[in-house]
Amino acid sequence: MSKYVPVIGLEVHSELKSNSKNFSSSKNGEGEVNTNLCPLDLGYPGTLPVVNKEAVRKSLMVAMALNCNVPEKLCFDRKNYYYPDLPKGYQITQFGSPIGVHGYVMIDTDSGPKKISIQDTHLEEDTANMDHMSTYSLIDYNRAGVPLLETVTDPCINSADEAILFLEAYRNILLYLDASDARADLGQIRVDVNVSLKREEDSKLGTRVEMKNINSFKTVREAIISEIDRQTKILESGGVIEQETRRYDENLGTSVFMRSKVDAVDYKYYRESNIPEIKLRDSFIDSVKNCLPILEYERRHKYIDVYGIGKVDAYTLTKDKKLSDYFEKIISYGSNPVDTSNMIVGFLLGYMNKNFLSLEDIKINEDDFSSVIKMMSDGKISNKQAKDIFTKAIEEDKNVMDIAKEMGSQISDKEEIRRIINEVFSENTKVIEDYKNGKNVNGFIMGLIMKKTSGKVNPGITNMVLKEELEKL
Ligand code: ADP
Ligand code: MG
Repeated sequence: MSKYVPVIGLEVHSELKSNSKNFSSSKNGEGEVNTNLCPLDLGYPGTLPVVNKEAVRKSLMVAMALNCNVPEKLCFDRKNYYYPDLPKGYQITQFGSPIGVHGYVMIDTDSGPKKISIQDTHLEEDTANMDHMSTYSLIDYNRAGVPLLETVTDPCINSADEAILFLEAYRNILLYLDASDARADLGQIRVDVNVSLKREEDSKLGTRVEMKNINSFKTVREAIISEIDRQTKILESGGVIEQETRRYDENLGTSVFMRSKVDAVDYKYYRESNIPEIKLRDSFIDSVKNCLPILEYERRHKYIDVYGIGKVDAYTLTKDKKLSDYFEKIISYGSNPVDTSNMIVGFLLGYMNKNFLSLEDIKINEDDFSSVIKMMSDGKISNKQAKDIFTKAIEEDKNVMDIAKEMGSQISDKEEIRRIINEVFSENTKVIEDYKNGKNVNGFIMGLIMKKTSGKVNPGITNMVLKEELEKL
């Protein structure tokens, strides 16, 4: 055990979904290189920013989902620096009064729930995209001005695992709210990772190192692990950690020096005077609040604690909001949550996976789904019959209830089952011989009965009657 405790704080940038950019009417989305732009995005003099209400709405939703306090007035500030990807010479951001402050996100670690506290979340604009070649650079201004939400955690994360749990929870909040597609492979979610070490007994935090712009969660994990290792070695050999910005190099498997804090730019923040302060009216705040869905964490715990669904299945159901909504609608028609969950996780998802289908391809309405589960729970049809009904409904695009009627109900009449068993006996005399010679044939005969009846007999009753009939032999 190392005598050092890792302390990690994350800054997560996500591109928000909206029709237009944060302060101009250029398209926010895909397009030919350098086509989604206008004079404002290029920093032409005389242009004026106009705030995108949709981006504000989405940021406000995220702020509320992060349990943040939201300000009475919306304010923007200028962060001044020049770089070719920032033609105005400043970025419009929120410095003094972010859209959300002092929030938290719950995660479930191996040792129980943990609250990851959020310093703030603020709305800003993305920069242009640059590609550096050997002797020149290419620049695409399509991304310049895309609404970007930056969420900053407190230094309260203590391992790479916790960091990943937080990032996954956060991404899922964005997805539940449809605030961002949060696709790391498209650079829609990017993370700055701050790491320091402190001795267990120290209350003061150690000096931190920042690794900027990591765009996959897998790399975040690697970067944290390797940085903890690097800092531990320095401290153990009596060295000191310098406050610096480093870049994690995936090929080297370690961070490399970029710049020290002494070289830090002074951004000379001040209020963005081209955007007036905008009062966030109660009616606006309320309309956003009323749209907030119940989020993954709360749903998952309800599934486990109230419905009695297993942990793993509860994770699977709530990972995707659409699937979770489908499940909730089904059980709202009265079917048992555990049986419904078992059918969705144990059958439907596997079936969809095997056949490359998504939930949109499954046209079984929730009411019918619920009815079939109810028939199954009541013992009117077997689990296999229920699966057959669903399979047929999907493959033949037929109404579930029609199929259920066609297939008939489960055979649970004792005398009917006795008759079938005796038929199986007379068709398979060799097995009866085996039984008389002391072999255990129950399982084999059950298989024959299931085959003969296409799995329609009630298994419990059949087992009982089979024992009676065998004893009679
Ligand atoms: P800056 O604006 O210079 O980046 P902040 O105080 O806003 O500084 O911190 C940015 C991030 O660094 C936050 O996520 C915060 O949690 C994290 N952080 C601050 N101090 C430490 C520390 N000692 N160890 C690890 N992370 C830290
Ligand atoms: Mg920072």
